[in-house]
Amino acid sequence: VVGTVSAGDIPRLVRESFPLCMASMYQASWALHDSHHLKHEGRMQFGLFLKGIGLPLEEAIRFWRTEMAPVAPGEKFDKQYLYNVRHNYGKEGNRKDYTPYTCMKIIGSTPGVGQVHGCPYKTFSQESLRAALARLQVAPTKIEEACNKAKAGHFQLACAAAWEGKHGCACDTGINHPNQARACYYAESRRVLD
Ligand code: SF4
Repeated sequence: VVGTVSAGDIPRLVRESFPLCMASMYQASWALHDSHHLKHEGRMQFGLFLKGIGLPLEEAIRFWRTEMAPVAPGEKFDKQYLYNVRHNYGKEGNRKDYTPYTCMKIIGSTPGVGQVHGCPYKTFSQESLRAALARLQVAPTKIEEACNKAKAGHFQLACAAAWEGKHGCACDTGINHPNQARACYYAESRRVLD
């Protein structure tokens, strides 16, 4: 539901309820919050997810402006990124109301050098995956399960194991879309935690 999340809520929600494909674009040495930079495809994947969890346009502008301020302050942000944020909300160009990406679409994308979008269960090495899941505070046995499933190419099952290891209960719905209503990942996380 657009309109229920504010820019200031995002850091907490990343820690509590974001799937690894979104959390790893925000909190890692190469990611948005630390490097103040995210390439176009990453901004689309992450920005549309934020829209899908209920971040309204004005709050999205506030969020991106703050995150990018060290490298794109003031007018530089307006020139380089504002159009893009508004475009995701259907306010520019063809005014298409873009919808958040499905797991299939995210898994199917192939990040190039310097790009950090995509599904980490597919793109990360086992070592990086283990470290990222530990950072997300997933229970150790479930980290192993997730890594094994990722190694076998079962990326969504790996993500479900991580969800279970983070929330301490079963993910009965499976995972098909980071934003799917009444399902893991995000919506069911909020239902369990709120
Ligand atoms: Fe994101 Fe889906 Fe991959 Fe989970 S399985 S990390 S929700 S793309």
